[in-house]
Amino acid sequence: QALDAIPFLRQQIRTVADWPEPGVQFRDITPLLANPRAFRVLIDQFVHRYFDARPDAIAGLDARGFIIGSVLAYELNVGFVPIRKQGKLPFTTVQETYELEYGSATVEMHTDAVKAGDRVLLIDDLIATGGTMMAGKRLLERLGATVIEGAAIVDLPELGGSAKLRAAGLKVFSLVDFD
Ligand code: AMP
Repeated sequence: QALDAIPFLRQQIRTVADWPEPGVQFRDITPLLANPRAFRVLIDQFVHRYFDARPDAIAGLDARGFIIGSVLAYELNVGFVPIRKQGKLPFTTVQETYELEYGSATVEMHTDAVKAGDRVLLIDDLIATGGTMMAGKRLLERLGATVIEGAAIVDLPELGGSAKLRAAGLKVFSLVDFD
């Protein structure tokens, strides 16, 4: 019997209530990563979607975007670029700061990570408010790259992040929605 990939993947995501703070339903992908069949099904979904588009590079968002982004980059035979939280990258960087519910966050990327004109796929595990992915998009565009799509395993559409990203002109793709 053919495996229905999306419900299968959805089942592998664990919800942890009130973490890291009260009111948050944390969608934990570690069971999905730990299950070899599920991890393969997950990566295959992205490989099929991006095989023909063949981006010039894949940019992964710190830190779970690194796990799926690097495997996908390997499969598509393209380079991988990390977009990191502030203070981790050794060479010259570009930075973007964005607002969180309490305070702000800064992400950065090496200035030579992509070239002007590169077509880049941006990837993370999850889109909540969209702030992280929006910051990644801005970084890539500041270096002259085009973001062909923003991809995630999980979208939380009720938080409005994916809608905000689309309104800003980014194509958004996700596999699983949670309320
Ligand atoms: P945002 O910038 O609000 O879209 O948040 C997305 C980033 O925060 C991603 O890197 C996620 O890994 C993480 N994140 C935010 N909310 C959740 C959640 N409910 N469950 C798991 N990860 C989350």
